[in-house]
Amino acid sequence: MSSGQELTYVSWLIYVVIFVSVLVKAIRVPSRSHTDITLFFGATTFIILQGTVSNLLGLRPQEWLSDLVASALMALPYLLLRLLGGFTSVLPWVNSAAAGGLALSVVVLFALGPQVPPPVTLVLVAYFVVLAGYVAVGFIREAGRARGVTRRRLQAVALGTGFIGLNIFMAGLSVPFPEQRGTWTLVSQVSGLLSGIAYFLGFAPPTWLRRSWQEAELRAFLGKAPTLTRLPDTRSIVQELEWGAATSVGAPYASIGLWDPHTSKLRYYDAGRGGELAERLQTPGPESGFELKAGVWEAELHAYPPAGQAFATQKPVFVADVGKLNPAGTLYYEAFGSRAALAAPITAGDKKLGVLIVHSPKAPVFAVSDLELVQLLADQAAVILESRALIDEAARVRALEEATRLKDDFLSSAAHDLKTPLTGIIMLAQLMLRRAQRDETAPADQASLHRLIDEAQRLRALVMDLLDVARLERGALVGAREQLDLADVVRSVCSRPGRERCVVHAPEPAVGELDRTRIEQLLENLVENALKYGAEDQVVVRLERRNEHALISVRDNGIGIPAEDMPFLFERFHRGRNVDDRRFAGMGLGLYICRGIVEGHGGRIWAESDGPGTGSTFCVELPLHVASGEEPVKATPEVVRV
Ligand code: ADP
Repeated sequence: MSSGQELTYVSWLIYVVIFVSVLVKAIRVPSRSHTDITLFFGATTFIILQGTVSNLLGLRPQEWLSDLVASALMALPYLLLRLLGGFTSVLPWVNSAAAGGLALSVVVLFALGPQVPPPVTLVLVAYFVVLAGYVAVGFIREAGRARGVTRRRLQAVALGTGFIGLNIFMAGLSVPFPEQRGTWTLVSQVSGLLSGIAYFLGFAPPTWLRRSWQEAELRAFLGKAPTLTRLPDTRSIVQELEWGAATSVGAPYASIGLWDPHTSKLRYYDAGRGGELAERLQTPGPESGFELKAGVWEAELHAYPPAGQAFATQKPVFVADVGKLNPAGTLYYEAFGSRAALAAPITAGDKKLGVLIVHSPKAPVFAVSDLELVQLLADQAAVILESRALIDEAARVRALEEATRLKDDFLSSAAHDLKTPLTGIIMLAQLMLRRAQRDETAPADQASLHRLIDEAQRLRALVMDLLDVARLERGALVGAREQLDLADVVRSVCSRPGRERCVVHAPEPAVGELDRTRIEQLLENLVENALKYGAEDQVVVRLERRNEHALISVRDNGIGIPAEDMPFLFERFHRGRNVDDRRFAGMGLGLYICRGIVEGHGGRIWAESDGPGTGSTFCVELPLHVASGEEPVKATPEVVRV
């Protein structure tokens, strides 16, 4: 056997191996492109087998069989063109011209028999070479657009097609230049072998090669993992994963359904698209199995069959035409651009987390290797989602611990602060009792009674603060609103007995819809603090109107606020480090409640101070009208405040 013949036999062997491999795939995963690929390699295998059998038996094939073999050869570029159609839309006239050319070639071959005149042979070769060239260029263009494994496989297919064109071109050259037949044949045999190898890589790549091609995509996908787990919420992580998966596979769009064990439904966050969809089409009814709730699609397992199947069987699923599985959903799938789908379960250990689905308007030609990649991506997504869940769980435990600690702090602070006035009350009452027992006719001890009342009032104020904190935490601090002039409130708060140091600048009225009791309480707190921490100096309260807002400031020249305390001033129980507990009674709840009142009215509160000893200014900005969309509670006589 000459070395040229050896080359031919090796290429034949490769083609037959590819045929068997693609045939198995087409049976396992039937789709149009798998059929086209099988037809192409079926035609080549037919040509090869016929050649081999004739060689072995040393027979000249019958005329009709030769014509059939020649026709199968002429059909190859047309079959490749059909395959190209699986990736991109081929111009209709090219399709028709190729089909017409093939039909004509077959007619000519059968009509002229074995004696095809050289000019006709040249025309047939030209048809073959031009069409194969067109297809090769088409595959190269598609390879440029595709990603990952598909890109590499398309490059290999383009190369294989180029070589097959060259193979026929070289064979054709021996017609006009028969004297160099030996050279042409050798080049033709080499390009035949190369086309076999390239097609093998393109159509039946071994697993190790596919893995190494997939690795680059996986690495790019995983590169983002550390930042993903730190995104603010699960929705953002899911959206990034979806985007990453679509990019890695080279599909227009991917979605993730997260399993909710409480409702036994898959939750899809892609409500952006879904929202549009719901607007464009009729919102799907409950019979569709889809429901849009607070920006999230909740879907029964049967609502989107690829996802449901992949989740239920815990195996990757490829569906070439989703509409066929669930005709009722066709309208929706089409609106989502989801005709074909590749779905893989997202599972961490034995925890079923959800499904990753890659959607495509066309069934991907290399669906099997795409499906492998989707499963690998789903496995990575599982790791990311699981670590995020662990981080969330840790944060939840920390928050719980913090809440328990705060509750403990709260209880001990509250108990401590309640104990002081209570002790005072008991001591005073005991003292008065002893006096009364000593001398029953003695006049009432008025001074002690006044102190008793003062202490009891302090106690009541503390209890009221505690109740307000509880209300604030329930979001029920600000209640019924009414028309109120803030200038009146400011003046009335400042003119109460013992507040002679308080000066008011309120040049114009500032009328708004406000909760009278809470606004009074706010100003009481601020003015009381300014007098308490104000070093016996003047306290100035200013009120200004600024468009739709009122700006209130309470300024004192007292102990001031250290910079370190500024960020925590409005937190509960916080007291400044320059405050001496024995000199200034207090629990650190007043400003916390003030913030609750102001924010409950849609305003903001802040403090300004240049540090200890420089005095402080507390500022409040309040919107005078209720923002649209907000439901104000209207003041009615029945509203009873506890
Ligand atoms: P309390 O006065 O009971 O401590 P508040 O919540 O009213 O509670 O105030 C919290 C802390 O803010 C005070 O302990 C004090 O350190 C600081 N603070 C409040 N008002 C003033 C003020 N006018 N001047 C200086 N510091 C103040």
